[in-house]
Amino acid sequence: MNICLVEDENSLAEMIRLNLELEGYDVTYFGNGLEAKRAFEISTNYDLIILDVMLPHVNGIELCRQIRTVSNVPVLFLSAKGTTSDRIDGLKAGGNDYLPKPFDLEELLLRVGVLTNVAKREEHDVIEIGDFRVNCKTFEVTNMNDSAVINLSKREIALIELFDEKANEVIARSEILDKVWGKDQFPTSRTIDNYILNFRKIFESDPRNPQFFHSIRGVGYKFTK
Ligand code: CA
Repeated sequence: MNICLVEDENSLAEMIRLNLELEGYDVTYFGNGLEAKRAFEISTNYDLIILDVMLPHVNGIELCRQIRTVSNVPVLFLSAKGTTSDRIDGLKAGGNDYLPKPFDLEELLLRVGVLTNVAKREEHDVIEIGDFRVNCKTFEVTNMNDSAVINLSKREIALIELFDEKANEVIARSEILDKVWGKDQFPTSRTIDNYILNFRKIFESDPRNPQFFHSIRGVGYKFTK
């Protein structure tokens, strides 16, 4: 979990950073709005972005608007300006939560926990494969126009979730059988092959020359994102 913190009060930033790191998060830190703005032009690839509102050069509200043009990453505002209208401004700019200063450290960590879990859950509900989106809640595969293409089975979804979790790694047949079929069932390796062939038919533009679902001879399979 990678959190980006934009805060110009050095001692407060250090305190937040230290505590987030103690909770196991990786923290990227920017001490002013301009630095953050430039960094967000390149990437907003974080699990959460914490923005102070009053920042030198570019304020937190503007940064949030910038982020929202490219990303749905959760944004938590921190601000000494804790009036209702300030909160509304923050939320209107696309912020997910707003914590007035001074705040209780435990409350900050709780809110960070909620926001990063929401992000994780949403990320896991939908898995993108090429031009398709697999919804692991509804078992539906849709194309980029959001029209339903096909419904998958519970086991197919479990297999895709495992592939996604281990994307770009070779997964042994035995691990797939163990995790997707369970120990008390005895499918053959051929069973997995049939699932893979079916996935290729659905997701690959050229099933004979797969881009996503690869067989690794003698070992298992690899899903490439
Ligand atoms: Ca500030």
